[in-house]
Amino acid sequence: MTQDKNPLLEQFDEAPFSRIKDEHFKPAIEALVKETKAEIDAITSNKDEPTFKNTIEALEFSGMQLDRVTSIFFNLNSAETSENLQKIAQEISPLLSEFGNDITLNKALFERVKAVYNNKSKFNLSEEQEMLLNKKYKSFTRNGANLNAEDQKKLREIDNELSKLKLKFGENVLAETNNFQLHITDLEKLKGLPESILNDAKELAKSQKKPGYIFTLHYPSYVPFMKYASNRELRKEMALAYGSRCYKNNEYNNEENVLKIVSLRYKRAKLLGYKTHSDYVLEERMAKDPDTVYSFLNDLLEKAKPVAIKQFKELEDFAKKLDDIDQLQKWDGAYYTEKLKKQSFSLDDEELKPYFKLENVISGVFKISEKLFNLTFEEVFNIEKYHEDVKTFKVYDEGKFKALFYADFHPRSGKRPGAWMTSFKSQYIKDGINHRPHISNVCNFSKPSKDKPSLLTFNEVTTLFHEFGHALHGILADTIYPSLSGTSVSWDFVELPSQLLENWCYEKEALELFAFHYKTGEIIPTRFINKIKELNKFQEGVQTLRQISFGILDMDWHNINPNKIKLISEQEFNSFKTTKLYPETTDNLMSTSFAHIFQGGYSSGYYSYKWAEVLDADTFDYFQTKGIFNPDLSFSFKENILSKGGTVSPEILYEKFRGKNPSNKGLIERAGLN
Ligand SMILES: [Zn+2]
Repeated sequence: MTQDKNPLLEQFDEAPFSRIKDEHFKPAIEALVKETKAEIDAITSNKDEPTFKNTIEALEFSGMQLDRVTSIFFNLNSAETSENLQKIAQEISPLLSEFGNDITLNKALFERVKAVYNNKSKFNLSEEQEMLLNKKYKSFTRNGANLNAEDQKKLREIDNELSKLKLKFGENVLAETNNFQLHITDLEKLKGLPESILNDAKELAKSQKKPGYIFTLHYPSYVPFMKYASNRELRKEMALAYGSRCYKNNEYNNEENVLKIVSLRYKRAKLLGYKTHSDYVLEERMAKDPDTVYSFLNDLLEKAKPVAIKQFKELEDFAKKLDDIDQLQKWDGAYYTEKLKKQSFSLDDEELKPYFKLENVISGVFKISEKLFNLTFEEVFNIEKYHEDVKTFKVYDEGKFKALFYADFHPRSGKRPGAWMTSFKSQYIKDGINHRPHISNVCNFSKPSKDKPSLLTFNEVTTLFHEFGHALHGILADTIYPSLSGTSVSWDFVELPSQLLENWCYEKEALELFAFHYKTGEIIPTRFINKIKELNKFQEGVQTLRQISFGILDMDWHNINPNKIKLISEQEFNSFKTTKLYPETTDNLMSTSFAHIFQGGYSSGYYSYKWAEVLDADTFDYFQTKGIFNPDLSFSFKENILSKGGTVSPEILYEKFRGKNPSNKGLIERAGLN
């Protein structure tokens, strides 16, 4: 054990990555838990009458350093993990959830919170303060503050178990994603794959001192393989490997974990007096209850299904004509969709990629943020980072420092798949000082090679804009309380800024700012832009059906008494009944690798992607009528939505900005579902 001082226990602004060693985390978190407990004790032992300030506000500003250290730890565990970090996570996660329970089950503390809550009219609270009070009060009652001692103990055991299971679930998915490789030495078998993809596969093989080409289940390898490889058998092999992750007879199987998670969540909800886990979750969402979610999904399903069936038939006819394929399988979908797309639009990802050099796209999203919100970005080289691939930027609003922004864009074996926004420090105002946030975007875009820069597919461009939309929500945060700041809003509202920003990727006026050919400097041709827009509707019925199917699967896992579930495969089959287009594939299951709902926080929340699409389509519709860079409108969006975080209910914020309630008309039109 090192004798050095633990840097995590010192005061720091930017995370001091270079000095942090793995072995610092556990002792630091243990010490900070202790320190936070002392802060809480000071609140409960206060002899004065409970007030908003000495109770709610004091509670809100306790454990600040603990929050910083745990966010550093969990961000690293997602973006730069190792067996060692995963082991530490297994140790500290139960510790933290136990501590969380210590607070929410602290009777003396709850009594004080309740006293403030019951006397709220006495304190002359602002809108933000009242929201904080309500949320704090709910955080107790929703965690068992009103239960008897025995039930509280049960609840603590459940939470402990759940936090371990969720971690294990995610680790299994990552392990199984890393465990499979398709190693091909015969180039003949790789027909159809573009050169850039082959080069990546060749470089990967080389790095493992193997001849030929290696493909993996990580998105930058898997997705293009499924799209372009004309060898149907190999596509099948890849798809089955992907779809069987954590559903095989090995140590990484997640079937038991899924069943355990679902049944513990149900028990927990019951204990707290809710009908199901979904009822418990949705109580605090814009949607409010399972019925609303089901009718929202079914309404969309009704509109999308006929369009999806028609589009799927087109795909099947096309595959039949082209390759005499009688039955389209799920490993054929991406391949023929790409081919049909190319035939219908004579435009494919590879043609577009030269216009989307990563650096240009980043500068594009920065320029758009400048036009909309007056933000400027300065790359800085004196900020510590956890990996050399990470870039750091200072963000200014008309010269005023607004945030620190980390950008971590390339895949590594220690990074989980996908793309996300996170923060190393929240924004808040204390003692008159506005503490600015440290925001991060983590993605998995192909790395530049020796002779080619990193060129993004159009899908990756929208992903970058999406995550940056979340980042803006964090960067522009301007609230007093950290727990209400930035993206701390209800789950079915949190995707509005991110999905909204994607819309600019389809607009000529925006693309002209950054979509230059990386060799010639030529601006992306207008015909490409028009095609991109048309493409937005291509097979959109099928895509919508797929999203709805995930939403239904999620709801079905959580809006049920799990004792009724016999077989995990049967449960999934039943959920997909109304939405499935492809034949069943034995030995494949979605649920065992559905990390969104079993590892992440999306349980009974997957619908929120579509929910937020309704909001973003409705919002962008407004921008299109007033001008996509209309300064009044973007100012109103910044003032009413981005800066407000969770200080006001989402429906009120939205109405203030839009002047009316959201309508799904915009989405139906944009997706061509009418
Ligand atoms: Zn998102």
